[in-house]
Amino acid sequence: MVGREVAAADHPSKEIREVLKRLVADGWVLRSEAHWGTLYCPCEDQCTVIRVGGTPKNPGQEARRIRRKAKWCPLPPDDPRAALRGGVVK
Ligand SMILES: [Zn+2]
Repeated sequence: MVGREVAAADHPSKEIREVLKRLVADGWVLRSEAHWGTLYCPCEDQCTVIRVGGTPKNPGQEARRIRRKAKWCPLPPDDPRAALRGGVVK
């Protein structure tokens, strides 16, 4: 993990900001990397890493892509947040 931490509110697209805010509230870490930033899942081994573009051509589609990828992160079943998400998404 490199790069300084950035705030979800810093993203230029409102749709993507909403997704980022929800994930950060869920324990994901957002860092300034690559084109804009990178999201790291809350797991100890960081099973899921998502690149976040700063100027996507289609922000709605980019927001959906981030949301979909975020479901790859399998929180342990005993984690209270796993129940909120409906457990492991296959
Ligand atoms: Zn994970």
